[in-house]
Amino acid sequence: MVIIIPKKAYLTIVAACVRFANAKIQREDWVEVHGVFLGKNVGKKNKQDVVISAAFPIMHEKFDPEQVVDRYEFSEEEYVNLALIEEKGFETDEFVVGWWHSHPGFKVMLSGLGDRKTTLYWQSINPLAIALVFNPDRLTRQVELPFKKGDPIIQLKSDPGFKIFRLDDSNDSKSNFHEVEYRIEGYESIEQLITSTQKFIIDVTNFFPAENVPKTYEKLINDQITKFNSLLLGTEEYLTTLQNQGQTERIPEVLDNQSKDIRKFVAVTSNKIGTIKEFLDYLEYKERAIVIPHIEEILTKWDAAVSGLDKKLKELSKKF
Ligand SMILES: [Zn+2]
Repeated sequence: MVIIIPKKAYLTIVAACVRFANAKIQREDWVEVHGVFLGKNVGKKNKQDVVISAAFPIMHEKFDPEQVVDRYEFSEEEYVNLALIEEKGFETDEFVVGWWHSHPGFKVMLSGLGDRKTTLYWQSINPLAIALVFNPDRLTRQVELPFKKGDPIIQLKSDPGFKIFRLDDSNDSKSNFHEVEYRIEGYESIEQLITSTQKFIIDVTNFFPAENVPKTYEKLINDQITKFNSLLLGTEEYLTTLQNQGQTERIPEVLDNQSKDIRKFVAVTSNKIGTIKEFLDYLEYKERAIVIPHIEEILTKWDAAVSGLDKKLKELSKKF
């Protein structure tokens, strides 16, 4: 039995988990993230593989120092989200093939009774169901952290940061578990996967905030619109000054240089916006309905601002 994971599903897990456990967040505030997989079982009986089509982040732990046991319990809203995801699966003959969660900064395994219980639940519905456990730290530092103090830190090589487990006995919540083989698709090599994902983690750390996603992106885009408009205005003022000073022969060259700068600014911003758009796919399910339309609306403002750029530059050149 092999688990096939597409690149996008892998990146979804990495982004959703790193968002709540990264270099910008104090280590003691790192929290676990929990989601499910849609997909299907493929192949003949007794020789089936699990083909994942997508990963869906559902929730992150609410940080509560008072609470010591089982800190993630789905809220009513999150159960509704899960039902919506399952419904989405029906449309394409897919179903929940397992669940995933993060162990930010600690050993990848099925820990405690909670992890086993959840795995047991999914295995009771689908005998091939899997549990993936991801630790961003494992991927960035390429080490397996000890389960208890005093155990050695194990150096890893080309490790994607996770393991996939199944319970030996799907009728026993105290059952032992074992590792399952997997394959991540969409990369040239495991080395390329590691290097590109380590870079991706830096982007997530800088551009995918745990809180206030719409506000952060709205500010970023509004700032870019303001800068864009002032670049245009600045160009016009510059050209006017040259004209007033009688240096009209310099105007074509200056306009040309300014136009290049403005276009470069637009290209860099479009790149940033591309990243933002990609990150919208990695939001928790419950955030999507609010955050995505909000960001799309702001993005249309940016599109409107830059869409007339060629025309505006032409008008400027005519004016002078
Ligand atoms: Zn766990």
